Amino acid sequence: MNGEKVIKRDDKYVAHTYGRSPLVLEKGRGMIALDPQGKEYLDFTSGIGVTSLGYCHPDWVAAVEKQLETLPHTSNLYYTAPCGKLAKRLCKITGMDKVFFGNSGAEANEGAIKAARKYSVDKYGPGRSTIITLENSFHGRTLATLTATGQEVFHQDFGPFNQGFRYVPAGNFAALKEAMDETVCAVMFECVQGEGGVMALDPAFVHNMVNYCRQQDVLLIADEVQTGAGRTGTFLACEHYGFTPDIATLAKGLGGGLPIGAVLMTESVAQHMGPGSHGSTFGGNPVVCAGALAVLDKLEDHEFMLNVADRAAQLRAGLAQLPHVTQVSGLGLMVGIQLEEGISAAEVRAACQEQGLLVLTAKTRLRMLPPLILTRLDVERALEILGNVLTNWKKEETEG
Ligand SMILES: *Cc1c(COP(=O)(O)O)cnc(C)c1O
Repeated sequence: MNGEKVIKRDDKYVAHTYGRSPLVLEKGRGMIALDPQGKEYLDFTSGIGVTSLGYCHPDWVAAVEKQLETLPHTSNLYYTAPCGKLAKRLCKITGMDKVFFGNSGAEANEGAIKAARKYSVDKYGPGRSTIITLENSFHGRTLATLTATGQEVFHQDFGPFNQGFRYVPAGNFAALKEAMDETVCAVMFECVQGEGGVMALDPAFVHNMVNYCRQQDVLLIADEVQTGAGRTGTFLACEHYGFTPDIATLAKGLGGGLPIGAVLMTESVAQHMGPGSHGSTFGGNPVVCAGALAVLDKLEDHEFMLNVADRAAQLRAGLAQLPHVTQVSGLGLMVGIQLEEGISAAEVRAACQEQGLLVLTAKTRLRMLPPLILTRLDVERALEILGNVLTNWKKEETEG
């Protein structure tokens, strides 16, 4: 494969809605991605928290291949086993009652918004449809989820926006109460804001929000698209905060690399979403569900999740010791790294790439979302590479 050709062709024909790094990835195995020259990269990005079992995990590949040659797709007019099996497993794991499947995080959040409004309108009549979201949140790129996203940078030039969204600063319970009125049907939030800079919500704020919303019968929509499916060391990040939401959305890591979105609902919410209320052509696709079931096999394995917790602790402790690191944020294997002022996270990311380590950024922070299969040695290697980059960092590199 000719890397230069791949880049040129892409630049000419693919709509450039992304700022891409000039790197072509050709293959991957486990924690390692390879470029066309065979250069190896230790991948601490998982395709933004997606390939939770690393590249081409044999059990995942076998499950997907088996379903692919059995029945790759049918419409939602008919029953297939993988979809129901996956829904049942998700309900057993989370304590929720019903699942709707779509294809992405944004789509899952759209479904969650619809379900919350339907519940509220059925129960209280029209007009009770406002969704409160948090500043610095990220909920997707479709028009409703873009509106829900509490960051002005994403809003420019795409109006007019949907009505019925209201924003409050994350962690400010007084502001949340202030924003609450008889039109509000739900609060939507990420327990750890991912794109907003890998910031975990304050437990006291969450506790107050949960209690207050319960009193008002305002639904709690946990956007677990990035935090869910084991990423933070528990299946849902909500578990760290000790509550079960009314609606939870999953996507990124759930499929292990295949596109999936899921809206998990309690019975009291789901009972309002009857036939005809929502749909998706590809949602619940058997191949995708087979892949997700292979991911759940690992996430339900106690030893596997112990490793996630141990590696997260090892990685966080190691990062805190590195030069120029002022704070390590997030939860579990959702890691944000704040660097001293004057050091650009984007430039450090590029230098790591040069040295064979792939990492991400979020706002001003470096960000790591490694596959959940990582070993002690993988963490040591990543710390060594980032450590070398930071030890040799001259602040002028960034400034000049
Ligand atoms: C990535 C992300 C989304 C959007 O998911 P897509 O699959 O890109 O539509 C929504 N919410 C959160 C918290 C995310 O991290």
